[in-house]
Amino acid sequence: MSWTGDPVWLADVLREAGLRVIEHEGWRGRGHGDFADIRGVLCHHTAGGSHNDWHIVQYGRSDLAGPLAQLVLERDGTFRVIAAGVCWHAGRGAWPGWPTNNANYHVIGIEAVSRGDGTDWTPAQLDAYKRGCAAILRRVGRTAADCVAHREYSSEGKIDPAGIDMDAFRADVQAFIEGEDAPMSASEVNQIQHFIAEFCGPIGSDVKDLREQLCGHAQRDRGEYGGWPQLGGRTVVDALGEILTRLDELEAR
Ligand SMILES: [Zn+2]
Repeated sequence: MSWTGDPVWLADVLREAGLRVIEHEGWRGRGHGDFADIRGVLCHHTAGGSHNDWHIVQYGRSDLAGPLAQLVLERDGTFRVIAAGVCWHAGRGAWPGWPTNNANYHVIGIEAVSRGDGTDWTPAQLDAYKRGCAAILRRVGRTAADCVAHREYSSEGKIDPAGIDMDAFRADVQAFIEGEDAPMSASEVNQIQHFIAEFCGPIGSDVKDLREQLCGHAQRDRGEYGGWPQLGGRTVVDALGEILTRLDELEAR
């Protein structure tokens, strides 16, 4: 695959997939150099489990400078965008189509907040995990075959992300990649309903307003359309019909 550059599109692509995104200041300029190309996504867990886990991912540890992954996935399904450049997360390992012991320059790392015992994933987090991987892979023209667990890639005995069956996970990711219009997430449906309520008012009254404009407002709730004084007591449809009839008569003369 040709060079795709650093994934400065990460936040946009995740948002377009209906996901909640927090962009960390300076993320587009953060990283250990530029990507060679982007071939996939490597899935991790943080082995922490708190809302502070992102600190280590962004700033690193005493023995390893941050950033340690491009993305952090919170337990509520929110993605934190930490970096666009290369991050230290893959370590040594291999996967078909990826360069052995050198995946950091070719794959995007997602650190999902979890204790790491495989028992604390939330439904919102797992749903966002799959949708996020799918959105990234679709953006770079790859399939779910390049959505890989760290434990599958690593030759260093990694176990993450614990408790996730990657074959089932990849099947769901592939379905999201192929979906012409991926199913809306619960938060997306919520946002749309909120938008409609805020800017349009209840839908029922909108329909009545439209009907009133067309038919006049008298007794509209009983299906009796009073017509408009300006149209001689006609509804808009009746008035248009009469105009067309008159035109036909004029043409026939
Ligand atoms: Zn890992």
